[in-house]
Amino acid sequence: MSAQSGSNERHRRPTIIDAGFVLDVRSLGRAPGSRKDVHRTVTTAARIGLEMVGIPVGAQVEMDLTLQSVSEGVLVTGSVRAPIEGECSRCLESFTDELELQLTELFAYPNSATEQTTEEDEVHRLVDDMVDLEPVVIDAVGLELPLQPLCEPDCAGLCPECGVRMAIASSDHGHEILDPRWAKLATFAADADGSHPGTGANGTVPPQSADSDSEEK
Ligand SMILES: [Zn+2]
Ligand SMILES: [Zn+2]
Repeated sequence: MSAQSGSNERHRRPTIIDAGFVLDVRSLGRAPGSRKDVHRTVTTAARIGLEMVGIPVGAQVEMDLTLQSVSEGVLVTGSVRAPIEGECSRCLESFTDELELQLTELFAYPNSATEQTTEEDEVHRLVDDMVDLEPVVIDAVGLELPLQPLCEPDCAGLCPECGVRMAIASSDHGHEILDPRWAKLATFAADADGSHPGTGANGTVPPQSADSDSEEK
């Protein structure tokens, strides 16, 4: 019976363990000013980021953090470094890079004034003396990454005429429409456009049915 209630308990609130993005802060104590440095490498279980760029699954996220006990909770500061993979928004090539960002996040003690005067989505909470940095990292990464990532800051993108990637095109790549074959094609295209006058105006009546009507009458 006790085993059953125990499993119900676990089902209601999953056991939080000191692993991954979750840090046990019990050893910090609650004396304001006490500090503890934590270095941790987390292997991502899911991709973190935006549509075109993000930290891939299985990447190593390096966290160098300082936990500090303050009157209202635990203040987490420090840096997070991770490899990122993305697709260049200009030339569409995939690229890899490294992301580094700084965190400053307060986790409020249960029943602290901060906990009672703020919403959970404004200030994070300590749960069972654990700090869960995963939502913090997800938010921070999302804010740090560009919506339109570039493989290089000065990526030349694609040729607007033929779509070749300018980084691999020769330096004199360009399209001067001087070639007589192109000139002929251009004329032909113009003629073809001009040979159906009225198609736009009588757009609902196909030319063929219009012809057969006139033959019958
Ligand atoms: Zn590019
Ligand atoms: Zn081109």
